[in-house]
Amino acid sequence: ANEEAAATAAVALRDTEAPTIFDKILSKQIPSTVVYEDEKVLAFRDISPQAPTHIILIPKERDGLTQLSKAEERHEEILGHLLYVAKVVAQQEGLDDGFRIVINDGPNGCQSVYHLHLHLLGGRKLGWPPG
Ligand code: C5P
Repeated sequence: ANEEAAATAAVALRDTEAPTIFDKILSKQIPSTVVYEDEKVLAFRDISPQAPTHIILIPKERDGLTQLSKAEERHEEILGHLLYVAKVVAQQEGLDDGFRIVINDGPNGCQSVYHLHLHLLGGRKLGWPPG
C-alpha cells in the first residue's frame, strides 16, 4: 500500500499544471461521444467539428504533457500509442481516402486546451496549407 501511495504521489508530482475541461470529459462530468477507449487513451467527437469527422484523442493520464513542446523521454510510449490509435480510429471511421492528424502547440499553434491532444480530421478534402 505504501508503494502504491508513493507511486501515486510521484505521478501527481509530475503534473502540477492547471486542470482542463478534458478532466471533466474523462470523469464524465461533461458528456462526450466516445468513439474509442483503452487503458491509456480516450477518443471522443469534437464538440465543434471542423470536418465531417473530427475526433480528439487524449492520454487519460496527462502526466505533465500539457502540450507537445513539454514532452520528455518518458512520454515516448504514450505519444506513439496515440498516433497508432489515431490510425485505428481513422479506419473505424471509414476514412479510407485519407485524413489529417493535427497537434496544436501553444499560442501560435492556436492551442486552447492544455492537455495534449491529437485532432483526427477527415471526411472531406482538406485544404493545405492550414490557416
Ligand atoms: O487544439 P485545441 O486546444 O485548440 O483544441 C481543443 C479542441 O477541443 C477544440 O477543437 C474544441 O472544439 C474541443 N473541445 C471539445 N469539447 C469541449 C471543449 C473543447 O471537443 N468541451
